[in-house]
Amino acid sequence: MLFSDIADTFAKLESTSSRLEMTTILADFFGHLKPSDLREVIYLSQGKLHPDFYPVELGMADKMVLRAIASASGYKEDKVEEMWLKEGDTGTVAESLISGKKQMSLFSQPLTLKDVVAQLTRIETAQGKNSQATKVDVLTGMLHDSGPTEARYICRIVSGRMRVGASAMTILDALAQSFADKESRPDIERAFNVTCDLGLVGETLAEKGMTGIDEIRVKVGNPIKVMLAERLPSIPEVIEKMGGRCAMEFKYDGMRAQAHITKDSVKIYSRRLENLTDNFLDVGERLIQNLKGSEAIVEGECVAIDPDTGNMLPFQMVTHRRRKHGLDSAIRDIPVKIFMFDILYLDGRDLTHLPYERRREILSQSFDMDDMVGLTTMGIVEDEVQAEEFFDRAIGAKCEGIMAKSLSDTSVYRAGSRGFLWIKYKKDYHETLTDTFDLAVVGAFYGMGKRAGKYGALLMAAYDQDTGDFCTVCKLGTGFDDAFLDALPSLLDGTKVNTVPSNVKTGLEPDVWFEPKVVLEVAGADLTLSPNHKAAYGWAKEDAGIGIRFPRYTGRLRDDKSAEQSTSVNEIYDMYEMQFSDGL
Ligand code: AMP
Repeated sequence: MLFSDIADTFAKLESTSSRLEMTTILADFFGHLKPSDLREVIYLSQGKLHPDFYPVELGMADKMVLRAIASASGYKEDKVEEMWLKEGDTGTVAESLISGKKQMSLFSQPLTLKDVVAQLTRIETAQGKNSQATKVDVLTGMLHDSGPTEARYICRIVSGRMRVGASAMTILDALAQSFADKESRPDIERAFNVTCDLGLVGETLAEKGMTGIDEIRVKVGNPIKVMLAERLPSIPEVIEKMGGRCAMEFKYDGMRAQAHITKDSVKIYSRRLENLTDNFLDVGERLIQNLKGSEAIVEGECVAIDPDTGNMLPFQMVTHRRRKHGLDSAIRDIPVKIFMFDILYLDGRDLTHLPYERRREILSQSFDMDDMVGLTTMGIVEDEVQAEEFFDRAIGAKCEGIMAKSLSDTSVYRAGSRGFLWIKYKKDYHETLTDTFDLAVVGAFYGMGKRAGKYGALLMAAYDQDTGDFCTVCKLGTGFDDAFLDALPSLLDGTKVNTVPSNVKTGLEPDVWFEPKVVLEVAGADLTLSPNHKAAYGWAKEDAGIGIRFPRYTGRLRDDKSAEQSTSVNEIYDMYEMQFSDGL
C-alpha cells in the first residue's frame, strides 16, 4: 500500500467540511484496504500510531521538524523558519518546499504504509542522549522519499497536529457504510465505546464482519468510555423521571478515575482517558491490595482528604495530583480516597450488561474497604421527602449534590452515553438560574485598553455529539484575573491554527482560531436566542442558535475533560427549554 494514496485521501478529506462527504470518501477508501492496513490507516487519520489511550505520543518539537524539512529540501533553516512563522503549520511548509520531482531521483523510493509506520515507530521510540538527532535524521529520510502531499501529512503527524477533520464518529459512520449497514451502526459504536480503539474496531469489522463486532468485550487495560448523567432542575422531577423509586448516591467533587486492576498492576484513566496511574500511585497500589479477586475494572471519584481532620477537601486540591512537577510532594501531602461507584468487569466477566443493583452488590463484595478505598454513600429512596433528605445529607457531607441511579432491569452500564439512567442534581441548581457549563475554547479576540497585546476575550463552544462539531455559545471576557490573562498564550498557543477548523461552527470571526482542546468552566445568567451562535441552531427558532448571556469564567480550568466532554449542545438546548418550565 503506497503512502501517497493515503495522503491523497487525507487531502480530499481536508478539502471538505461536509461530514457526509467525508464519510463517503473514507468508506470508498476503507473498502479497498487489507484489515491490518485499515487499522494503521485509521490510527494515522487521527495523527497516531496507536489508540488514543496509548501512553506515548509522537509530538516532535516544531524546531526539530523544521530542521528536517530544511535538510530534506535543501533550503536554509532560517528561510524554513521564516515561512513557518508566517504559516504556523509545519505541514504546509513541508508541502511547499519538498519538491514533487524528488521522488524520481535515483536515491529515493516511494514510501509505503509499512515504511511510514516503521519510521514513525523509530521516531516514537528513540531514547537517550542522541534521540533528538535520530528523530531528525529519520524524518529527513522520510521527507526525502516523500512527494509534497505526503510531506504535509508526515510533518503534521510527527508534530502532533494532524487535523484532517475525520472525527471518531465519522470513522464509525464510514466503517458501517463500508462493511455493514445503517442498522449495525449502534453496535459498531458500542464496540468502540467499550474498547476506545477505533483501529481494533475497523480491523475486526473488515476481517470478521458483525459477528466479530458482537464478540468485542471490555478488557482490562483498554479504557472504556465513561457513562454520563443527564440533569434535571428539581428533585420532584428526578423522582418522577425515575418512576417514583431509585438509588441515590452522594455526588463527590473530585476527579473521576477508571481503574484497571490485576494481581500485580494497575492502570488509572481519567474521564478523558488519560493515563493518570503515576498521579494516583498510592490509590492504585491500595486497590491491588484490597481487591479480593484477580482482575477488575472499577470506577470511582478520587477526592482529596484533609490529613488532619479526615474531611473531604474541594476539587482544586485533588487537581494538584495532575502536576508533573512536585507530584511526589502532592502525593505525600494531600492524601486521596477513591469512592467507588461502579464495577464493569471482574475475573473474566463483562459486568456492563448487568443492572445497577447487581453491579453495586458485586462491587461491595469485591474489595476490602479502608481509609483509601471506599464506596460512595448510597441509599434507596421511594419518594420526594426521602430524596430531599438524602440530598441534604449529601450537602452536609460537603458533596456537590446527588446522583440518582435507575433501578430498572435495563439499568446497564451504557459506555460512552449520556442518558436518564443516571440523573445529576446539584446544589448550584438551587442557587443560580443555570448550572455551569464546561466549554471548549475555539478562538480569541485581541484585547484593548488594559488588555492590549493580550487575548482579551475567548470564543467558547459546546459539543454536538451527533455531528462532531463544536458550536459556539458565547464570547467570554469576564472572570479573568491578570495571572490567567498572562497564562492564556501558553495555555492556548499550542492549539493555534490559521483558519477556522472544519469542526467549529460560529457566526463570529475571532482574531485567532484554536483547535478545540482547552476546556473552561463558565457560569452564565441565562440562555438566550442568538443569531451569532450556532449551538442548537434552528432548533428553537429558524435562524438562531442558543447563546449564554453574561458569561463569566469561574476560575476552573477543566483539564480533566477533553473538548468532546464539554457540555453538549443537547444539554444546552434542554437547559434553554427548562428555563420556561416551573422547575427553574
Ligand atoms: P458532571 O461532571 O457535572 O457532568 O457530573 C458527572 C461526574 O460526577 C462524573 O463523571 C463523576 O466524575 C462525578 N461523580 C461524583 N460522584 C458520583 C457518583 N456517585 N456516581 C457517578 N458519578 C459521580
